[in-house]
Amino acid sequence: MSLSRRGFLGVAGAAAAGAALAPGIRLIELADAQPPDARPPEEAASALHRWGLLVDTTKCSEDCDACVTACNEEHGLTSLGRPQTDAQWIRTVTLKDKQTGRVTTLPMLCMHCAKAPCVDVCPTGASFKRADGIVLVDKHICIGCRYCMMACPYKARSFIHEDLTDQKLSAPRGKGVVESCTLCVVRVDSGRIPACVEACNAEDGKALQFGDLNDPNSKIAKRLATEPSTQIRADLNLNTGVRYQGI
Ligand code: SF4
Ligand code: SF4
Repeated sequence: MSLSRRGFLGVAGAAAAGAALAPGIRLIELADAQPPDARPPEEAASALHRWGLLVDTTKCSEDCDACVTACNEEHGLTSLGRPQTDAQWIRTVTLKDKQTGRVTTLPMLCMHCAKAPCVDVCPTGASFKRADGIVLVDKHICIGCRYCMMACPYKARSFIHEDLTDQKLSAPRGKGVVESCTLCVVRVDSGRIPACVEACNAEDGKALQFGDLNDPNSKIAKRLATEPSTQIRADLNLNTGVRYQGI
């Protein structure tokens, strides 16, 4: 990513950070979600961190879509009139165990894989992984071939066919390119937690925990070290940044 683009995102993120100081919201972030330290725009992402999410599916209810709504609002994702393929960076999936009848609802999003198939197959380098584990699409060099969409085992990416209007400054999008969950990179770089996590905590759901998987003192790392968790399609050995409990 060029310095000018990083600078743009940094400014946008700093603007967004102001909103985090609204009474109540910031307290929730500090209490439950351990926001990252803000990173100066001129400073490169560091491999000292690996940002990730832990989803406790036992706290997700079938009728809750607070994470989806928050993501859509944060990034200006609106329906393009094609319900089956509308851009949706996070979606909820409900599973039923046929033998036991147990129903589980869970959010699905980009898993921010350490060994990301989308990055491996991209012919231009548009799909890339930052040093801190966040997987992104550089929309300036994406040629819209959609190889990454075919390679992703989690159906996490979508394609924009339409002209877009009213885009958010902090979430530039474009016709003819692929997109997916950015782990709210603008927020993370400005010291805030992802929008879906913030919404989940505000709703008292507390199903989503964001943090640094590389920091043994972070809440998420401590929980992963002491509580059972799993990766979806762990057999693929992709070392996902998103982990699950209760499935
Ligand atoms: Fe890429 Fe899909 Fe993995 Fe996300 S979940 S990093 S889009 S392969
Ligand atoms: Fe959407 Fe951000 Fe959550 Fe990813 S981390 S699903 S971009 S709100």
